[in-house]
Formats: sequence, structure tokens, C-alpha cells
Amino acid sequence: MSDPTKNPVSSQTTDMPKFADIYHNSITDREQFWAEQAKRIYWHKEPEQILDDSNLPFAQWFVGGETNLCYNCVDRHLEERAEQDAFIWLSSEINQELTETFPGVVDAFKDLGNSVEFYTDYAKRRLTYNDLYKEVNYFADVLQRHGIEKGDRVVIYMPMILEAAYAMLACARIGAVHSVVFGGFAAHNLAIRMDDAEAKMVITVDAGLRGGKVINYKNLVNQGVAQANVKPEHVLVVNRGVLPFKPQDIDVDYATERRRSCEANAVVEPVWLESNTPSYLLYTSGTTGTPKGVQRDTGGHAVALTTSMDYIYDGKAGETFWAISDIGWAVGHSYTIYAPLLAGMTSVMYEGLPHRPNPGIWWRIVEANKVNILFTAPTGVRMLKKQDETWMTRYDVSSVKSFFLAGEPLDESTANWLTQHLGVPILDHYWQTESGWPILSNTPKFDHKPHKQGSPGYPMYGYDAQVINEETGKVCAAGEKGLLAIKAPLPPGCLTTVWRNDERFISSYFGLFDGQQYSTSDYAVTDEDGYFYILGRTDDVINVAGHRIGTQEIEEAISSHPEMAECAVVGIQDELKGELPIAFCVLKDHEQVATTENRFRIEQQVVGAVVKSLGGIARPAAIYFPQALPKTRSGKILRRAIRALAEDKDTGDMSTLDNPAAIDAIKQSMKDY
Ligand code: ATP
Ligand code: MG
Repeated sequence: MSDPTKNPVSSQTTDMPKFADIYHNSITDREQFWAEQAKRIYWHKEPEQILDDSNLPFAQWFVGGETNLCYNCVDRHLEERAEQDAFIWLSSEINQELTETFPGVVDAFKDLGNSVEFYTDYAKRRLTYNDLYKEVNYFADVLQRHGIEKGDRVVIYMPMILEAAYAMLACARIGAVHSVVFGGFAAHNLAIRMDDAEAKMVITVDAGLRGGKVINYKNLVNQGVAQANVKPEHVLVVNRGVLPFKPQDIDVDYATERRRSCEANAVVEPVWLESNTPSYLLYTSGTTGTPKGVQRDTGGHAVALTTSMDYIYDGKAGETFWAISDIGWAVGHSYTIYAPLLAGMTSVMYEGLPHRPNPGIWWRIVEANKVNILFTAPTGVRMLKKQDETWMTRYDVSSVKSFFLAGEPLDESTANWLTQHLGVPILDHYWQTESGWPILSNTPKFDHKPHKQGSPGYPMYGYDAQVINEETGKVCAAGEKGLLAIKAPLPPGCLTTVWRNDERFISSYFGLFDGQQYSTSDYAVTDEDGYFYILGRTDDVINVAGHRIGTQEIEEAISSHPEMAECAVVGIQDELKGELPIAFCVLKDHEQVATTENRFRIEQQVVGAVVKSLGGIARPAAIYFPQALPKTRSGKILRRAIRALAEDKDTGDMSTLDNPAAIDAIKQSMKDY
């Protein structure tokens, strides 16, 4: 698998507790461990009971305690860091030049109380904790004036702008349950989520900007409202001045309402919530099927995220954290909004793509804002890998101390590429929307173990994670493949149920074995040192003539080809062998397959690489060269769609597809064959 000495982070420091001890403690004496962690946040009323596990797999944390997420994110820091930046907002979609294309933008910023600096490559707005306190209070006041109360659901359908952060925090302040819907989803998906949550309000914008393209959010919301069975009472519109629209009867203009609250110096007292009160709903990415409405609590969520910022990310108050993500998925919730603020850090919020206006934009932002910790998904890095790599060396990125990646397997070539150019630890770690924070990770703070290439690390405190044999339910020995499972109770911060669907919570996650093991639906294997390796999703295992092969293992072999940008392997039905792997390969330079000769060469090399690492059984039956792969909005490859196309079947629920053109690219690549 990999050589543990290949990639040491650094040697162990002596006065630091050992992570192994922390872990052990967290499993053998859960209540004591989490009682200790709970001290990291402010409780209006102390918890009466740390864990109620009388009704597993449902677990209740910090029972009877009362707290407020927004208070912990904002108010609590005013004494010590009122003038420190809470957020640095950057948008490469709006720059000096583009203020001419969208002349309304400058006035709209003023209307919204934002003072913005325009540069040639981006617009920037700094927001101190004090500013954030004011804005969140205004926003909460506007919500209250429009009838939003504790327990009401509010759908937030917005791009990466600060008002989206205010909206989330304002909901948390008054105890409303937010449900952020990924920007750019079709009206139909929005309507489904509005109905599922029975949303009382939708918060949106006139338009979003993505890669220079204007996305008509307002129109999508109008259609969504028309299609929804449960109509919201109001649509609160943050007008960015990008796209003129005709207001509807239920529309409320945020800038006008904000002005009222601002003139009145509105202050909204935080509503103290019992720890197990739902804080938000968020749907999973839908990579393997219909998305599930993950429900998160309040106190456990706050404690878990605060602890993770210290123990896992080694982030300190005053440092700058940049989770390059979108608020529409779990990383954006946990690590763009909540965790950095809970920890008193500065969070970078970025509207824009990794390669616009040029592939140096990330590093330019890192340099200009002295980012200390980075976090993104491998897909963005792979996009940069396709570009001229000298972009990596033009900026001073020495402020960065670690770079975390999650969401997808991190292939060796991408990890190496980053390590070479950045010279900081590249740390793969593993989690899910459901968990809300890492399940497997390395812990640079404790530094007791080197990280290993190909492994997202070892189980984090609180997760009694094991690899389990699917048939016997027994724990696998090192080297034996099985299902990655977590013994109930799940630690604080994880989903507490599926929104209004306890049955689906049990059937989706606790259906196996004795009903007390949470199934991640991912296969894994451990090594002798206790490191875990993810082998792919249970959905993505193919059976070739009786041999079970994870498509991810074949993809890893293919990714080692120097001309490969990314690839997807799927299994298709075969009369003789049951299933056969076929590969879809996106080259860094697609022109390379323009000649038959070259194409043949690459095919041979790809087959060679697979056979060498996995044997003849894994040999792809066909290799196609599409220009792109279909992905979810969170950047995950939609293998089930590719498989359906390869088998000429219906692609099923495509609600989370990000790039419809890739569907044609897949079809075309099969025609070219
Ligand atoms: P759905 O559950 O709706 O099918 P999804 O599983 O893609 O969608 P997420 O919660 O966003 O939704 O993704 C979590 C999954 O991403 C994990 O279960 C795992 O398959 C994959 N994943 C996350 N981090 C890693 C990692 N470091 N290495 C390999 N796979 C990872
Ligand atoms: Mg999942």
C-alpha cells in the first residue's frame, strides 16, 4: 500500500498528550471526554446529562443544556476580538472591470452596507466581528419582523456572499432552522426541498455569478415557489444589482428592511435553545441516489466543531482558515461558517472558480490574506493540475501550515503535485455530510504519527470506527476489506436523524448487523498501524467473474498515467463475466487522442498500468476519452450516471448534476470509439 516513512509530517513533541490516549479516553469514557469538550463553548444553562443513549441509535447530547450557536460564533468574541476580521469575502466574479458590466453592483453594495474594495482580479470586503455582530442582528430583526420564530424553517438559496452567512447565523440566533439549498439547482429541486422542510421563508438574491455567467436565482425561486405545494409566506431578496427583476407579491427587499433595522440600531437577543433542538437541515450530495435530509442539533454541533478546529485542524483564534467550498454543502456549513467563527478565527469566503481569472487566483488570495489553513476537495486541485503549473510558484504561500482535502479519494499524483509545489503537509481526511466533521483524519497538532500517502488517517476521537465483514458482522483484521462502520452512539455533531423521517434514519444507516452500527456505505481496509484506507463506495464495487473489485482501485492505477487529469471507472453488465470495468479518461490535453496512433499508445499504457497494479482481471474492457466527467455540484464524479449512459439506461435522479454538457461528452466519447 504505502510506505509510512515516505511522508513524515515531523517528529513528535514531548509535552503534547498522545492522540492515542485522547482517542482511547473518548471511547472508554465518553461522557467524561465530552463533558470536558463542552467547556469550550458558552452555555446559558449547563447540561444536566452529557449523553442520553437510552434510545439508540438515536443519541442525545448535552441534554438540558441551553446555548445558542450564533452567540457562540459572534457575541462571545466581542470582548476580545471585536476589531479582528471574522470574514474576508472575496469574489473573482466581480472586479474593477466588471463593475462596468454590472453598474448596479456598486450601489447595491452600498445599499447593503458593504464597503468593498475593487481590484483588477477580485472584489474584497473585510468584516470584523463587530461588523458581523451588527449585520447578524439586523438580519435577525428583519426575519422576526417577517414572522420567523423558533422552529420555523427557512430555505436559503444563495451564492457565496456575506448575506448568506448573515442569514444562516441570524436563523441560528432566533432558533429558526435553516436549510441551505445549493445555488443553481433547478427550480424543481428547490421546490422538493421547500416542501420537505415546509419552509416559511425563502432567502435569495437577484442573481449569482459563476465563471462569468449570470445565474437567474430570482427566476428559479419564482418557479420553485410556483411548483411547491407548501408556499412560503415571504421571499426575502438580497438585490445585488446584477440582474433587474419584477418583484412578486410575496417578495421583500432586504436592503430596504435592513435600513430600517440599522436606523433603529436593532439588537435581537439570542434565543436559548435546548442542546438537542434542530439547528439546520442539509441534503447529502446525491452521488448514490436521492439526497437525504440530514438534521443537525445545536449544542453537540457547537461542541463538536469547536473541538475539531483545535484537535484536528490545529486552528487557533486569530488565524485565518479558508475552506474552499460552497455553503451549499457540509464543508461550507461546518468550515466556512460555523467552526472558524466558533474558534474566533478569520474565515475566507470566496465566490469564484479555481482557475478564473487565472489559475493563480487561489495562491494570490493565500498570499494577500496570509491564509494559515486550507481545506478543499481534490476536484478543484485536479482542475489546477491541468493548467500551467508555473502559476503555483508566483506567490508567497509560506503562511500556510497545512492543507486538508476531503470529499473524494485523493490520488497519489494529485497529492504529490500539491506537496511539491506548496511544501506543506497535504492531509487527506474523510467525512460525510452526515458526520459534519471528520471521521478519519491525521492530527498534525499531536504529530504523533506520520501521515501516509493513500490513507485519510485514523479514527477521530468519539468515533468508534471499525472495518466490519459484511457477512459476519465481525471486525476485520488488518488487510481484510470490509465496510467502514461506526458503533452507536454517534458522537456530538453528527446527524441526529433524517428530517421528520426517523425510519429512513434507521433504514439508511443502521439497517445492518445488530442495528447498532452506523454504516458509512464505504468500503475500507486498515493496516498494521491502524491507518484506514477507503476503497470506494459500496455502490461502486464491481464483480468481474466472481472477483470483487472497487472501481476506485482501478482509477488509482489509471491516475498514475502522467497525461491523465482525472478518470472514472464503472462496471457494465456482461453475460459472460457478470460485470466488466470500463474507463472514462479525461486527459490534461484532450488533443493527445486526436491521432489514432497516440490514442492507441495511451490506451496501451492505461491497460498496462491497471494490469500491473491489479492484475489482468481488472483490465478495462473499453477506454473512452471524454472531455469532461459528469459531477455533482460538490465536485463528485457521478459514476451512476456514467454507468447508466454506458448501459444505455435512464440516468435516474440528475438533480445534483453540475455540468450537463458532460453527459454529451460521455456519449460522444463512446461514439468516437
Ligand atoms: P449521497 O450520500 O447522497 O450519495 P455523497 O455520499 O457523495 O452523496 P457527501 O456526504 O457529500 O455525499 O460525501 C461523503 C462521501 O464522500 C463519503 O461517504 C465517501 O464516499 C466520500 N469521501 C469523503 N471524503 C473522502 C476521502 N477523503 N477519501 C475517499 N472518499 C471520501
Ligand atoms: Mg453519502
